[in-house]
Formats: sequence, C-alpha cells, structure tokens
Amino acid sequence: MKLRYGLHARFVLLAGVVLLASLVLVAMVLHRQNRAQHDVQALSLQSMHDLASNRLLTRGEAVASQVADSLVNPLYYFDLDAIGATIRNVLRQPDVSYVLVYDTEGRVIHDGSQDIATYGQSMSDPFAFEVLSITDIHVQSNEDLMDIAAPIRLGDQALGGVRIGYSLASVKADETQIGRRMSDRLDEIGRSQLLWLALLLAGMLALLVAFGFALQRALVAPVRQLADAAREIEAGNFDAEVPASARRDEVGDLMRAFAHMRDSIVRHDRDIRRMAYTDALTGLSNRLAFRELLDQRVTEGNGAARPLALLFADVDDFKRVNDTIGHDAGDEVLMQFSSRIRDVIDRQAGEGAVLARFGGDEFVVLLPGTGPGDDIRQRADRLAELLVRELGRPITVHGRQVFLGISIGIALFPDDATDVSALMKNGDIAMYQAKVAGKNCHRFYSRVMDQAVERRVRMEQDLRGAWERGELSLAYQPVYRLGDGKLAGAEALLRWRHPEHGPVSPSLFIDVAEQSGLIETIGPQVLRAACMDARGWQRDFPGARGLFVSVNVSPRQLRAGDMAAQVEDVLRESGLAPQHLHIELTETAVIGDELRVSSLLARLRNSGVKVWLDDFGTGFSGLSHLRRVPVDGVKIDRSFVADVLRDPDDLALTTAIIAMAHSLGIHVVAEGVEKEGQYAILRERGCDLAQGFWLGHPMSNQEFSRLLA
Ligand code: C2E
Ligand code: MG
Ligand code: MG
Repeated sequence: MKLRYGLHARFVLLAGVVLLASLVLVAMVLHRQNRAQHDVQALSLQSMHDLASNRLLTRGEAVASQVADSLVNPLYYFDLDAIGATIRNVLRQPDVSYVLVYDTEGRVIHDGSQDIATYGQSMSDPFAFEVLSITDIHVQSNEDLMDIAAPIRLGDQALGGVRIGYSLASVKADETQIGRRMSDRLDEIGRSQLLWLALLLAGMLALLVAFGFALQRALVAPVRQLADAAREIEAGNFDAEVPASARRDEVGDLMRAFAHMRDSIVRHDRDIRRMAYTDALTGLSNRLAFRELLDQRVTEGNGAARPLALLFADVDDFKRVNDTIGHDAGDEVLMQFSSRIRDVIDRQAGEGAVLARFGGDEFVVLLPGTGPGDDIRQRADRLAELLVRELGRPITVHGRQVFLGISIGIALFPDDATDVSALMKNGDIAMYQAKVAGKNCHRFYSRVMDQAVERRVRMEQDLRGAWERGELSLAYQPVYRLGDGKLAGAEALLRWRHPEHGPVSPSLFIDVAEQSGLIETIGPQVLRAACMDARGWQRDFPGARGLFVSVNVSPRQLRAGDMAAQVEDVLRESGLAPQHLHIELTETAVIGDELRVSSLLARLRNSGVKVWLDDFGTGFSGLSHLRRVPVDGVKIDRSFVADVLRDPDDLALTTAIIAMAHSLGIHVVAEGVEKEGQYAILRERGCDLAQGFWLGHPMSNQEFSRLLA
C-alpha cells in the first residue's frame, strides 16, 4: 500500500481529531465534576457541622438553664456540697469538659472538684469577660470549645452564674469521619464514572477503527483497484483485472460500469486495430501489420537463425488499367490478383506464409523457413515462378480481357539483410530489377543491384535542379528531306554535363528522370527552349523559314498535365507557328491509354502541331495501332536502318512500314543513317525524311546556327 494523503489517510486524520476532541471534552467534564464534588462535600460538611453544633447548643442551653435553676438555693445558702453534687452530675454528661459556678464578681465558687482548687480565683479565660455582665443564657465558642453561661438569680437579686464548657472534639471527630467517608464514596463514584468514560472512549475508538476498516474495504480498496486497473488499461494492457463485484451499492455500480467501459474499450481497440492493420480493399494485412509481423519474425529469427524469404510483387502496368478502364476496374483487378496470389500461396507456400498488400499494386509475401536443411531460396524461386505464371493469365474485368503480369523481387533473411528495413529495401530493389529486366519475371536480390540502385539514386539527386544550374542543354540533330536532300528541321536532344562526371548518356539520365518524375518539370523546359531556338533560326536566317523543331515527349509528361494547353502557351510565347513544332512520342506513351491519348493528339494536331511516333518497330503495337492513333508520321527505329544493307528481312520490313505509312497518309522518318548506302536505299524506297551521323551529328545551337548560315 502506498503512503499518500488518500481517503484512508483523511479518515485516519479525521478520526484522530474526533478522538482528541472527545478526550478534551471528557477531561473538561471530569474537571467540572471534580469541582462539583468538592463543593458538595464542603457544603455537606458545613451543614453537618451546623446541625451538630445546634444540637449541642440546644442541649447545652437546656442543661445550663436547668442547672442554673437548681443551683439557686444551694448558692443562696452557699451549700458547696450541694453545688458540687450538681456540678459533678453535669460533668458526667458526655462532651462536658468543665462546669464552673461563679459569684457576681466573677470568682470561681465551685468547679466540681473535691478540693475546689480554683476557689476564689477570678476567671481569666477568654470567654470570662462577657460572662460577667449577662442577664440571660449566653453562648460563646471557639475552635474547640462551646461555652454556655446562665445567670443564677433569686428574684431580682443576682447570685452569680454557671458556665458549662462543651468540648467540640467529638463533633469534629464525627465531622472528619463523615467527611472522609463521603470523599471516599465520591472518589468511588468518580472512579466508576471514569471507568465508564474510558469504556466509552474505547468503544468510540473501536468504532472508529471498525469504521476505518470498513471504509478501507468498502471504498478505498475498490477505488484503488479501479485506479490500478485504469492505469493498466491506459498502458495498453487490456487483460488488467477489473474487480468484479456483486455489490448492489454505488461502488458496485461503479465497478460494473468500469468493467463495461473496459470491454467497450477493448472492442474499440480491436476494431481500430483491425482497421489499422487490414487493407480495406482486399482484406489482407496492410503494410503496418506486415511490418510488425516481420519485425517479430526477424527478432525471433536472429536468435534461432530461422531464415525467411520476402517476395515483393508489383503488378506490371497496373496504371494502364486504372487509366483506361477506370478505377473500379483497377480495384477489381487488385481483388482478383490478391485472391489468385492467395490461392497460389495456399497451394504452394506451406504453413506460416503471410500475404499483405502494401498499397497500390504492391503485394508482399513472407515465406518462413521450415528449419535447418530447408532450402528457402529454392522454395522462394518456385513460388515466385508459379506466381508469375498464374498472374500472367488474362483476367476478365468489366467484360474485358486484360493481360497483366507481375514482377517479383526476392530478398532472403539473413543472407541479404539482417534487419527489417534493409530486408524490405532489398526486396524492393530486386523487384525494381525484375521490372528493368522486362517485367513479368522474378529476380533475387544481389549486392550488385544495390550499387546500381545507389547510382540511380545519386543521379536523381544530381539531376534535381540541373536545368536551373545550366547543366542541361539542348543539342540539335539535322533532319533532311530525302526527295531533294534539303534540310527540313532538327530534333532537339537533351544533354547533361555533370559538374564532376562530364557528359552523361541520355539513355541513362532520361530513364532516371522518367522514373523519378523529374521529367515532368524538365520536359516543359525543353519544349520551351526548343521552340525559342527554332523561332530564333527562322528569324535570323532567311533560308530557315520552313524549318521545324522536333521535341521528344515522355509518356509521363503526356499523362501529367494538360499537354495541349502547355503547347499552345509555348507557341504563343515563342511565336513559332504550330506546323513547325513536331512532337515525338514513343509507343509506350501511346498504348495503354489510347482513348485519352487519341483525344489529346487530335487536339494537338487540330492546332497544327505534328505528332510523330518515335522508335517505331521496337514496340509491340504494330502497324494496326496507327489506324487508331492519329499521328503525322513514324520514325523507323535505327536498329532497322542499321541492317537494311545486310539483312533482307529488315529491308523488307522497312519497305513495308514505308508503304503502309504512305497508304495511311502519314510520313516516315528514318533514324540512325550512318552510311551513304543506307541513305540511298531509303530514298529509293520512298522514305520521306532521314537523320543520322552520316547526315549530321547532334550539335549545339550555335553550331546548328553556323550550319544554317
Ligand atoms: P531518340 O528520340 O530516338 O533520339 C535519337 C537518338 O539517336 C539520339 O540519341 C541520337 O543521338 C541518336 N542518333 C542519331 N543519329 C544516329 C546515328 O546515325 N547512329 C546512332 N547510333 N545513333 C544516332 P540520344 O541523344 O542519346 O537520345 C537517346 C534518347 O533519349 C532519344 O531517343 C530520346 O528518346 C531520349 N531523349 C533525348 N532528349 C530527350 C528529351 O528532351 N525529352 C525526352 N523525353 N526524351 C529525350
Ligand atoms: Mg526522338
Ligand atoms: Mg528514336
């Protein structure tokens, strides 16, 4: 039990105060009672004293007057014997200490003794003076004596008097005795009262203790228990014992209410946890739940050296589904994918495998090792292969068949990483490599990937702000008309001079810019610069009036903003005529979202801008695409052109492309013309335009201007 100023302490303090007050009260009562006893005793003694002395007085007066009467004759005749006999009679009475008969002069006549030793002596005691002049009975007294004198007279003649001295000793003795008895009795009464009071106090104390105990049991203990339970619950320990109570009072109500509250908190917590830990769409565990589980497994695994494999699966080209068929279809696809993955795992992965959705189109599988001698790598390999195969099968969404694939990266614990973050990162890297390797496949993590990824990350950082720092520039490669051999325009090609590494190959950094989204800011800048430069040529060189500039636009750029509006802005700003701007799109930009791209291209083309399909022949769209996507021409990829002289198939294909394009009313540009022979054969087959090193390397704007001059 903790010591603090709680209910119990308060009660103890209060009880102490009450007890103290009672004690003071009792002490005061006792004191008063003591004084009252004293008063009573004194009063009683006084009245007793008065009573006794009165009685003595009455008796003494009676005796004195009687003696005075009986002594008249003997005194008159001076019969000393008779006087003596009378006196001795009196002396025999109790308490009488002396009897004196005296004459009118105050001289002793008889004192009751045989020889009358005091005869004739004047009375000299303190009472004597007053006695001489009395005419009636006269009483005087002091502490020890009561002196009663009575005159003796015969008719009017005074003969003398008699004095009887009564001792007060016996009266006093009686008084003392009674006084002592009385005080004994009072003491006794006082003692018994004290005892009663003590008993009363003890009873009160016992009552307080009992009350305190009851308070402790009935209120303090339950309140403390509740407080403890509340603290436990607050700390997240919902198993905290809430004291159950069958009591029908307020405390019982409180405890029951508390228990209900705990239950409802537990329910809420469970709900919130479920919400926080499950993916709403698929009902799978989410990133958070998975992360926690993985943490747990890895910490377990560190001790027991239990390996595990992490499979990071990302749906290929999922965005296409969202963009073309809509988000509902996207959700449907994800649901079907998750149930397919689930099926494969249930069939293949064995016990303990966990599937989670990491958001978007990312799924993660945790494959636990079964123990020593288990080849986790091989099992992960088999599982990934199966997953790729299963998810490569077409799925039907909203009545449409969709072909999607999945790319899987695999990281192994503890081989590839010993902590969760690194493990997840490596799984991600491996997945990324699977994408790079052509998608719809799986890759194991290896350290080499790490470096590649690191290089990419660094490149991305370096590329940020490169345009503003002037590291990026445009090169222009001349494009010639094959018919008359005249210059027709130029393709703008982005160049990056890295401050440390020098020129970086566009095939590298364009890809990084594409992946990271940087192209969305760089692209528009390229477009503007190219238009400005082209307008400059037309202004500066009379022969350059009809030249076009051709700008490469990435798929991402196409999707990001309103391309058409952007182009219109730039044209207005630069003053370049729309027909002098050519846009080059790759096939990948066009497929996937044909509907949207088609309308965008239509808008561009209506404004007069020309659109080219770049790297034609390398994608899988084929010529059939050209019917649906409105373009002004195609650029035959240089890989075909490279072999037109050696490979008859390539020549045939190139020829077919040219014929087909012309039949659709669109033009053809040949890329990568490096030899005169290529140029000749392309011209012979009716190709419209050509560019290549043989015709002209990409060059700076100044060089190009010199060429124009
Ligand atoms: P691309 O659009 O197909 O550009 C033509 C590429 O072929 C250029 O490579 C050019 O230097 C090269 N080339 C020209 N003639 C010959 C030749 O006779 N033989 C050979 N072997 N190659 C020749 P570059 O400049 O390295 O550009 C590579 C790719 O980078 C471009 O391919 C284009 O897709 C992309 N790219 C370049 N600049 C931009 C840009 O500003 N924006 C976007 N989105 N992509 C760009
Ligand atoms: Mg191009
Ligand atoms: Mg090309």
